[in-house]
Amino acid sequence: MRLKFLGTGAAGGIPLWGCACSVCSRARIDVSYSRRPNCAVVDAGGTRLLLDAGVMDLAERFPSGTLSAILITHFHADHVQGLLHLRWGMGDINVYAPHDTEGCADLYKNHGPLKFNHVSKFEIFNVGDIFITPVPLVHSKPTLGFCIEYKGARLAYLTDTREIPPSTAAFLTEWKPHTICLDCTYPPGTEGSRNHFDLPEAIEISKDYPDSNFVLMHIGHSLDEWLMSHPATVPSRMVVGQDNESIDCPETE
Ligand SMILES: [Zn+2]
Ligand SMILES: [Zn+2]
Ligand SMILES: [Zn+2]
Repeated sequence: MRLKFLGTGAAGGIPLWGCACSVCSRARIDVSYSRRPNCAVVDAGGTRLLLDAGVMDLAERFPSGTLSAILITHFHADHVQGLLHLRWGMGDINVYAPHDTEGCADLYKNHGPLKFNHVSKFEIFNVGDIFITPVPLVHSKPTLGFCIEYKGARLAYLTDTREIPPSTAAFLTEWKPHTICLDCTYPPGTEGSRNHFDLPEAIEISKDYPDSNFVLMHIGHSLDEWLMSHPATVPSRMVVGQDNESIDCPETE
């Protein structure tokens, strides 16, 4: 099973419009440092899932018939804005999303080919041979993480959360994912009320799952700037994700 990041950035991405910080300036010169809104594609056994729809060019990237389904973690704009264009297309595609009476803009009303299926925490569902367990997260909108399994390969995709609730933590301990992709938006010392993890919190969480590799995602420009001057601060089991990077999860069955 392979996950490829289309984006690894916080809302706004990198370079952030109008920002002159060293990270945003670097990304304007070398696009390999840019970060699009957080989203990814998972491929296994001929099934292809899109995890969140933050990039705006879905129609060009994925011609009709090349995606098996779309999984939406929550209805913040940076996770669904690509759907606002895709819905003008034809045919149909299943979109799995949390129960959220508001949704985003008029997506429910004018959904076009998007067939919304609301999924509940810990109610397992499948797309082809891929099995998905939604797990609850804590954010400013109803938000799910997705624990994705194909033939024993296990990957947890946990974006946009300020906490791993006890029921999700217990599930992960039992489930033992090979890889956990984790929200890490802020550098150490970010004050104020937050809806995302900072780096010390992400490192602390990783200690609870000693057998899992960690990929940090939903990276804000202030964290990238901090990492430029503190390059050796991430533990060996942990990497900072990059756009277009792929992660392989070995199948065991
Ligand atoms: Zn987000
Ligand atoms: Zn910046
Ligand atoms: Zn969000």
